[in-house]
Amino acid sequence: MEKQRYERPVILKMNTGLMNKFGTKTENEPVTHIESVPVKSLLSEYGSPLFVISEKQIRRNMQNAKRIFKTRYPKVRFAWSYKTNYMNAVCRIFHQEGSWAEVVSGFEYQKALGNGVPGEKIIFNGPDKTDEDLIAAAKNNSLIHIDHYDELYSLIRLSEELDLHPRVAIRVNMDTGIYPKWDRFGFNFENGQAWNALTRILNSKNLDLVGLHCHIGTFMLSTNAYATATRNLCELAWAAKERYNKMVEYIDLGGGFPSTNTLKGAYLPGTDTVPSIDQFADAITDVVLTYGFRQEEMPTLVLESGRALIDDAGYLLGTVLATKRLSDGRRATVLDFGLNSLFTSLWYEHKISPAKQHGSQTEEMVLFGPLCMNIDVVRESVVLPLLEKGDQLVVHKVGAYNMTQWMQFITMRPNIVLIDKDNNTHIIRKAETLEYIEQLEQIPDHLK
Ligand SMILES: *Cc1c(COP(=O)(O)O)cnc(C)c1O
Repeated sequence: MEKQRYERPVILKMNTGLMNKFGTKTENEPVTHIESVPVKSLLSEYGSPLFVISEKQIRRNMQNAKRIFKTRYPKVRFAWSYKTNYMNAVCRIFHQEGSWAEVVSGFEYQKALGNGVPGEKIIFNGPDKTDEDLIAAAKNNSLIHIDHYDELYSLIRLSEELDLHPRVAIRVNMDTGIYPKWDRFGFNFENGQAWNALTRILNSKNLDLVGLHCHIGTFMLSTNAYATATRNLCELAWAAKERYNKMVEYIDLGGGFPSTNTLKGAYLPGTDTVPSIDQFADAITDVVLTYGFRQEEMPTLVLESGRALIDDAGYLLGTVLATKRLSDGRRATVLDFGLNSLFTSLWYEHKISPAKQHGSQTEEMVLFGPLCMNIDVVRESVVLPLLEKGDQLVVHKVGAYNMTQWMQFITMRPNIVLIDKDNNTHIIRKAETLEYIEQLEQIPDHLK
């Protein structure tokens, strides 16, 4: 038997684990495999830290969401939100599952084209579209979702100058009972701006109004907010039909469904509190089905779900660099990943599991990242076994936003590995190298 390592005794308040009405958290259960690939071999083969994505889980999520909506409403389409995770391999999985692309910048637009998405299946959102972006999108028959009047006027001018006939929608913001209100994107519903923008489009020579869009927030916990948003978009669609005899082809409810992560400070875990996609689908489809549209004019329902479809397909694996005692006696564990890789630790209390069975002793501890800055805290407080240098950890539900918002600060970004449906592993983005990082730098002559 291996000799147990000596731990210096400390005096602690009695700690039975963080209790809620369901009992003690079981964060200490080891996670030794991901999709039956050993965590240990993933780390030894691809280095630490390491992002791992399960292709099976992405497909399951996508098929599940599609089934949920299609069984309630026949005309449904999903468009993959690129900014949530725009690794090309990930996007292509979504496209294979039938998703269109939803992009919010010229950069993402080019990525979608590069992934083989036909122009007419790209939804172009966002406040920052250059004239070149607008022209390219119009020529490719993409769906241009107009964000503000300046964009609307640019598009009217360009389409007349170049004789283009862009297919457009407007983004609408509104009061859905969620605060703070998201009113910085799109045209406001309550003050009449949305209707005003809509009539300008309907009166323009070249613009073809095909849809109405909103994206009311992110990690939304209220299904009722979606019912309100759907009702407001239906009202605009109805008014356009009545007064201009123009029925839009689709209404787009954006993204915002939560993943089952636990928000910081929440009393109960996300898995117990987050509404299911079924509940969101009920709220949305109930409104469209009963609004009063004739069957042949029922709009297609577009969804741009991001985090709800990818978060639980992503894992971050890492290694303990050191442990220490802080001046107040608290245990601290220093990891080889921090805010640089795990941006969403600003929002979430991720589930963090040891990668092997430890002894039964646990302790409350703070988890630090490796960055030389004070804000680099992965978790202020978590009860875990007495991890030591070299021990490995698995962070769960990190598929959304971490691989797009990560920062290259004093260290380089790690490998991303995809586990395919046969449990084969593939690097889908290589770990960065010094050469890669310095590729774009230039040294002026006098410093050579
Ligand atoms: C970010 C974004 C999404 C995806 O949001 P999630 O909260 O990840 O579902 C969808 N549509 C638009 C316009 C967005 O900006």
